[in-house]
Amino acid sequence: SLTDKLQNVFKNLRGKGRLSEDDVKAALKEVKMALLEADVNFKVVKQFVSSVQERAVGEDVLNGLNPGQMVIKIVNEEMTALMGSETTELKLLPINEITVIMMCGLQGAGKTTTAAKIAGKLKMKGRKPLLAACDIYRPAAIDQLKINAEKQQVDFFSMGTDVSPVEIAKSAIDQAKKNGNNVVIVDTAGRLQIDEAMMKELCDIKEAIEVHQSLLVVDAMTGQDAVNVASQFNEKVGIDGIILSKMDGDSRGGAALSTKSVTGKPILYVGMGEKLSDLEQFYPDRMASRILGMGDVLSLIDKAVEANAERDAEKDKEMAAKMKKGKIDFEMYLESMKQMRNMGGLSSIMGMLPGMGKISDDQLPDEKKLAKMEAIVLSMTPEERKNPKLMNPQRKFRIAKGSGNDIADVNRFIKQFDQMQKMMKQMPGLMGGKKGGFGKF
Ligand code: GDP
Ligand code: MG
Repeated sequence: SLTDKLQNVFKNLRGKGRLSEDDVKAALKEVKMALLEADVNFKVVKQFVSSVQERAVGEDVLNGLNPGQMVIKIVNEEMTALMGSETTELKLLPINEITVIMMCGLQGAGKTTTAAKIAGKLKMKGRKPLLAACDIYRPAAIDQLKINAEKQQVDFFSMGTDVSPVEIAKSAIDQAKKNGNNVVIVDTAGRLQIDEAMMKELCDIKEAIEVHQSLLVVDAMTGQDAVNVASQFNEKVGIDGIILSKMDGDSRGGAALSTKSVTGKPILYVGMGEKLSDLEQFYPDRMASRILGMGDVLSLIDKAVEANAERDAEKDKEMAAKMKKGKIDFEMYLESMKQMRNMGGLSSIMGMLPGMGKISDDQLPDEKKLAKMEAIVLSMTPEERKNPKLMNPQRKFRIAKGSGNDIADVNRFIKQFDQMQKMMKQMPGLMGGKKGGFGKF
């Protein structure tokens, strides 16, 4: 899937401490392939990749991130922007007026189901919706809407199959006035393919009654076709918003990514199943992290940025300089452990951090271990803290006594420190981003 492929690309990036322009290009080439395979519109992919590349190469790596994480952050932000950034709400008139919503889309896209889903949502918000059956070509469609209306306990209006959709729509509004409904949802007929008759019928309804929101339902599983369908409906009928149905299925993600930028119309909701409760508001940022399959990594990145924003820049510089030489001391080690703890969920974040997979759970400090480590470091002389090579059995014994620890605890701490130091030597650049800074995990 798209998510798996992108995760692979980023996994490779995360393994690197520093990224060259070539690294970025190679990674983005794979991102491009993955997006195309996911049936994202070609032009959209091209534009997307070039804007990510421009930013990834031009932008300073943020304090607290390594360049790989920086690329993920940029891809995430650009994806969010591609999908419209902001959540678009269904627009409703004030509660004392009648809002008319017209459902459109191809046959089987999910109009009838979605009409009932929306009715349920509006009912929960205190509205009184009326579902109007204007699909006169299939008697079963009327029954389907009726059953759904009953399930949602909302009002239903039908005139059978012998009256034209336009007349039914008009009468539905009269009925709404009489009955005190403040939303009318007009369920229309679809065809297997786009055809003129279908478009004309929708236009006729729009001419006959005032439609406040024309909502297009497209099947997310159809990828780019969904986007093409959306473009055509928008051209011929005019739509205000899109609902992507069947996002719970094996959708390739392409439709979600390209719909907004191709049609200019926002996605309002996504259908997540056949049940009438399975309709979710569309959040571009959440969808981006879902597509990237790394909500956890993204929130980690946010935390790292936050945690490091508060850090003392001078201290960072000094540490970064030392670390680049593969030199760390006990105070730095202690500091880095504190920082990791501050970022929360230690063992869960370790696996995501390049090079850190090698630290096992029992090496990670909890509050107790940290307090112990702190006591050990505090019992060292300033020289010992700065120069770990000075450590010898006598000194360790003195430190153990001074800090109220067993000699075994001191040995374990120093051993961990040695491992960390070795790891850093194996991975030059891992800890030093463009701007430097400790905590460049
Ligand atoms: P219409 O022809 O556009 O009115 O489409 P329907 O509302 O009759 O839906 C066609 C089929 O798709 C039905 O079997 C629905 O249950 C199913 N369906 C609609 N929306 C979703 C969705 O979000 N997820 C899944 N899995 N199925 C859906
Ligand atoms: Mg239908």
